[in-house]
Amino acid sequence: MHLSLVMPCYNEAANVEAMHDAVAAAFEGCGFAYEMVFVDDGSGDGTFAKLKALRENSPQSITVVRFSRNFGKESAIYAGLRHARGEYVTLIDADLQQPPALALEMARFLDDNDEFDCVAAFQAQRSEGKATVFLKNCFYKLMNRITEIEFVQGASDFRTMRRSMAQAILSLGEHNRFSKGIFSWVGFRTHYIPYKAGERHAGSTKFGTRKLFKLAFDGIVSFTTMPLRLAAFAGVFSALAALVYMLVVIVQKLGWGIDVPGYATLVVVILFLGGLQLLGMGVLGEYLAKTYVESKRRPIYLAREVLEGKLAEEGKEE
Ligand code: UDP
Ligand code: MG
Repeated sequence: MHLSLVMPCYNEAANVEAMHDAVAAAFEGCGFAYEMVFVDDGSGDGTFAKLKALRENSPQSITVVRFSRNFGKESAIYAGLRHARGEYVTLIDADLQQPPALALEMARFLDDNDEFDCVAAFQAQRSEGKATVFLKNCFYKLMNRITEIEFVQGASDFRTMRRSMAQAILSLGEHNRFSKGIFSWVGFRTHYIPYKAGERHAGSTKFGTRKLFKLAFDGIVSFTTMPLRLAAFAGVFSALAALVYMLVVIVQKLGWGIDVPGYATLVVVILFLGGLQLLGMGVLGEYLAKTYVESKRRPIYLAREVLEGKLAEEGKEE
């Protein structure tokens, strides 16, 4: 059995060597043939030079895909899957937060359990700040409620899948890629195992608060049209409320001759409805914008160069 380890790297010059060594150590004498697929996601810190040197000096099969600019982790995962040659494919970060030994365990599990197509690791305990953990948990709960797909609390991209599942993921050619949703959407049977994320080997996280919010937002827009329906519901609800109030006003006027004083009420209602309308238009615009981007059918990534590993080259000769 061949296993491909796909590692997206963005400014990980200080980590890739250690990552390579950790993988080699974990897989030493395990009986699994394996290759490493590094995707340099437009790094500006010499990651590519490090990867190139690794590829030349390492006895392992190493493929390096170098992007023409930073396209984001989701695109890097896609490129990695495309270049992976193994029957099993593992997605793992290049910062050593996720132990390579676990990837081997995942592959062994797939070997022994035919009915599963994927093994994913979830963090039983998160080591991030309390606010981050709380927001992430809220996001998973919300997604489970408003989308048809299922998200497991704490599940990361760290997973090993069979080729059939990797192929299925590749067949989804959308530009706006929310991998966690895609993994769930394609189906297949996934087994979850707990793990504890370690500290980053070097450097700091590339996913700051703003980027996480953007990712969450993209995930919602990609996997549910519920916000559009909510806007419609709000419209129906406010129209009904207006109708009821209109009846009240007519009865007051005709029955008791009460003149309804209403400057303040009017201003509040106008502002409230104006706000709702703008919100609805914003939501609509968001979906329209995504449709616009998708309709251009631009590639998910552009590679500046691809250095194929030994495994890929052997495959060509056959
Ligand atoms: N990454 C990437 N492109 C990006 C941002 C991140 O390829 O635009 C890679 C990064 O190099 C790392 C992985 O994605 O290997 C996870 O990123 P990070 O460790 O910053 O995220 P965290 O572990 O904090 O969620
Ligand atoms: Mg990390």
